[in-house]
Amino acid sequence: MPSWANWSGKLTAYPEAVIHLRSEADAAAIAQEAASNGRRIRTAGAAHSHAPLVQHDGIIVDASGLSGVISVDQPSRTAWVWAGTRIYALGRPLHDAGLALVNQGDIDQQAIAGATATGTHGTGTQLKNLSSAVVGAVIATASGELVECSPELNPELWQAARLHLGALGIVTRLKLQLTDAYRLREQSWQAGLVPTLANFHEEAERHRHHEFFWYPQADEANGKSIDLTDDEAAYPLAEEGHRCAWSYEVLPNYRPHKHTEMEYSIPAAKGPDCMAAIGDLLRSEFTHVRWPVEYRTLAADDVWLSTAFERDTVTISVHEDIREDDEPYFRACEEIFLAHDGRPHWGKVNYLNGHELAACHPRWHDWWQVRNDVDPNGTFLNNYLASLV
Ligand SMILES: Cc1cc2nc3c(=O)[nH]c(=O)nc-3n(C[C@H](O)[C@H](O)[C@H](O)COP(=O)(O)OP(=O)(O)OC[C@H]3O[C@@H](n4cnc5c(N)ncnc54)[C@H](O)[C@@H]3O)c2cc1C
Repeated sequence: MPSWANWSGKLTAYPEAVIHLRSEADAAAIAQEAASNGRRIRTAGAAHSHAPLVQHDGIIVDASGLSGVISVDQPSRTAWVWAGTRIYALGRPLHDAGLALVNQGDIDQQAIAGATATGTHGTGTQLKNLSSAVVGAVIATASGELVECSPELNPELWQAARLHLGALGIVTRLKLQLTDAYRLREQSWQAGLVPTLANFHEEAERHRHHEFFWYPQADEANGKSIDLTDDEAAYPLAEEGHRCAWSYEVLPNYRPHKHTEMEYSIPAAKGPDCMAAIGDLLRSEFTHVRWPVEYRTLAADDVWLSTAFERDTVTISVHEDIREDDEPYFRACEEIFLAHDGRPHWGKVNYLNGHELAACHPRWHDWWQVRNDVDPNGTFLNNYLASLV
């Protein structure tokens, strides 16, 4: 019996089929066949989402066979890449072309179409999420066509495709806005929560990347500041917090410990108050939680469903061990996040219904309009997404 599980193992599915893509033509044929037979498809990236985006009992399409850099355009600093390419597999070929992603998240295990599907981001007050880097896409839609979109070609579809939730069709290629290859030096630091929050935003403005994990039981923030450098890369790479090398070697980290996670994006000005309230919650009601709280920054963008849509943002993530019941802790955190105008990360846990999500996202109805136009019969929705309409 076919099966699927996400990275943490908390979400499992027994779909009617798991189909491994080998070509774009295959993607188009699978989409058409499913649509004409009333079957449903969810496309899987690297299964690193904690939200039930892929989980369903229809067809799961595994796009990891569509992998690699297709072409690079040096003058515009853009590249077409196959949708199933893991982010770690982009680093070296882009570097060889003198290019790099403008920013990356905490790990590089995700597929690029999976990461852009949910607005995956790193940290940096001037740096946007990965969805903002999508300047073109090719999607196998329910009509069986391979539809290209960009700011010039099918611009509404492109707007929706930048953060697509896997709900428009099977994304086969993405065109990414890149930057010149760059080297980074990271520096780690430690401090208590109160002094950390007192000057966080000033410090964050001084560094290209600035973030911390706060450990509640020790009341210690373990932070990192990362900046551009002309220093030569040092190999073997030093441990996290001390690396000096190319961006794709410094930004990703090794995160082997299985956990679940909730993350909300908060307007930047409300970030410190929100973080302080989460700190109080942990000290008063959830003293058993050993997992840290992560605090990062994210620049405003114009991606319809982005959690940083038209506002500078801090992101606050709470974690719990997969063996624990995370719900009471996460629900209590969610109450605080919502009281600070939070918007939930699409790839992590939240308990909002469609009405509540619509209230978070000014372009919610535009996104659904485009989605419904391109997939009127819901071939690319699972029960979770269908429940949000
Ligand atoms: C250890 C860990 C660390 C993380 N670190 C960060 C971080 O630093 N920053 C951050 O923002 N998030 C982070 N995340 C969350 C993660 O980046 C997102 O959940 C991301 O969407 C996962 O990508 P994936 O390739 O695993 O996609 P999946 O989880 O498999 O899928 C995510 C979405 O993409 C869709 N999809 C994937 N491929 C395609 C395709 N070819 N066509 C159509 N739809 C597709 C799926 O249908 C689904 O809707 C982390 C998660 C984990 C487990």
